[in-house]
Amino acid sequence: LDVIGTVEPRIAAAIRAELDDQRSALKLIASENYASPAVLLAMGNWFSDKYAEGTVGRRFYAGCANVDTVEAIAAEHARTVFGAAHAYVQPHSGIDANLVAFWAILADRVEAPALRRAQARHVNDLNDDDWAALRRELGDQRLLGMSLDAGGHLTHGFRPNISGKMFQQRAYGVDPNTGRIDYAALRQTAREFRPLILLAGYSAYPRRINFATMREIADEVGAVLMVDMAHFAGLVAGQVLTGDDDPVPHAHIVSTTTHKTLRGPRGGMVLCQPELADQVDRGCPMVLGGPLPHVIAAKAVALAEAGTADFRTYAQQVVDNATALADGLKRRGVTLVTGGTDNHLALIDVSAHGLTGRQAEAALLNAGIVTNRNAIPQDPNGAWYTSGIRIGTPALTTRGLGTNEMDHIADLIHTVLANTQPTADSKAKYTLDPALAAKLASRAAELLTPYP
Ligand code: PLP
Repeated sequence: LDVIGTVEPRIAAAIRAELDDQRSALKLIASENYASPAVLLAMGNWFSDKYAEGTVGRRFYAGCANVDTVEAIAAEHARTVFGAAHAYVQPHSGIDANLVAFWAILADRVEAPALRRAQARHVNDLNDDDWAALRRELGDQRLLGMSLDAGGHLTHGFRPNISGKMFQQRAYGVDPNTGRIDYAALRQTAREFRPLILLAGYSAYPRRINFATMREIADEVGAVLMVDMAHFAGLVAGQVLTGDDDPVPHAHIVSTTTHKTLRGPRGGMVLCQPELADQVDRGCPMVLGGPLPHVIAAKAVALAEAGTADFRTYAQQVVDNATALADGLKRRGVTLVTGGTDNHLALIDVSAHGLTGRQAEAALLNAGIVTNRNAIPQDPNGAWYTSGIRIGTPALTTRGLGTNEMDHIADLIHTVLANTQPTADSKAKYTLDPALAAKLASRAAELLTPYP
C-alpha cells in the first residue's frame, strides 16, 4: 500500500478501507469468499504484463514459455481436483466460461459452414454477410435452462442476456409446492422443446441437483448436458458433492467460476469430455480477450489448495454451517424456500415479515450483516425489489466460524426481520430502531473478533 500510495494515495486508501470493511462485515453473500494470501499474491505480479493468445504450446505471441508452465499446471490441478478429462482455465469470469461452453457446443454439434469460417478468423474480421449467415445457421438452436426466479443465472437463457438472444430459449422452474426441481415436469418440457443444450446449475437454489437424472433427460432428447457449477464448485472439489451430486462425471461440459465456494481468484473455467476439448480450447480469441496469466497463476494456487485435506474439511463445514444457520432461522419462525438447505446457501422468504428483499437487505446491512436480495419462485415483487434474501456460509466458514456462531447469526437475522417495519409508500424504505441496529451490529462485530 505504501508503494501504491506514492502514485495514487486515494487508491491505496480505498484498498485499505476495503480490507477494513471485509474484516468487520458479517459476510453472508453466498457467492463471496476470502481468497488466501497465496492466491492474492499470485495475482499481483509480472505475468500481468504478458500477452498469450492461443493455448499451451500454440501461442500467437513469442516468449510464452512461463505462461505455458503456469497454464499447464493450472489445467493439471483442475483435471485432478475435479476428475475431468479436459480443463480450459482461461475464461476471465463465469459468464465468459458459459460463452466458451456455448460456442464449443454449437461448433461441435451444429453443421454450420459460416461458423467454421468465423472460427478461422478473428471476430473483428467478420463482415455483415458472415454475421447474417451465422444468424441463419445458429438462430434455430435451443437452450433449456433454469428460470431466474427459481434460482438460475441470467446467462442460462434469460431474455436480456446474450444467452437469451443467441438461442431460442425456454426455462424450467421448480414445483410451486416444494420449491424443488420437478424432474418429471422437466423431462416433459425437454421432450416437447427438444433443446440442443440442457443447462443445469444455479445461483440461488438451496438444494442439490441429481446430475445422473439430468443426464438421462438430456440423453433421451439428444441434448448436450451443460452444468454451470459456479456456485458449488468448491463443494465438488471438497468432495462433499459426490456420486449423483457431482456434475463432472455426468455432464458433457461443465463451466464454473473460481472465486465463489472454490475460493480462488475472480475467474472462470471450463471442464469437458474429450470430444469437446478442441472447440473449448478455441475460446480465445473466439469469445475471450487475451488470457490473464497472473490470474491463471492464482487459479493454479487455488486449485492446489482445493486438493488438500484442509479444503475438504472447509467444504464440509460450509454445508454444516449452512444447515445450522437454516435450522436456527426455522426454529425462530423464519420462512425458507424449500424449507431448508443441503448446500452452501439458503433463501429467506421475507414476505412473511411484510418486507421486500430490498428493505430486508438494507435493514440487515444496517445491523452489520451483508447479504443480497434475491427473487424467490413466482416472486410477486420481481427481480429488482424481490421477496427474498439469499444467505451463504462460504466466507464465514473460511474465517473459521462454526455451527455455534451460525445460531447467533440466525438470531441476529431474525431480530432484524422481526423489528423492521416497511413504509407503506415505498418498496425500498423501512424503519428499524437505530439503537437496536447499533446493538445488533456490535454483536455481529463481536462474533468476528476471534477470527480476524
Ligand atoms: N454462473 C453462475 C451460476 C453464477 O452464479 C454466476 C455469478 O453470479 C456466474 C455464472 C457469473 O460469474 P461472473 O460474475 O464471474 O461472470
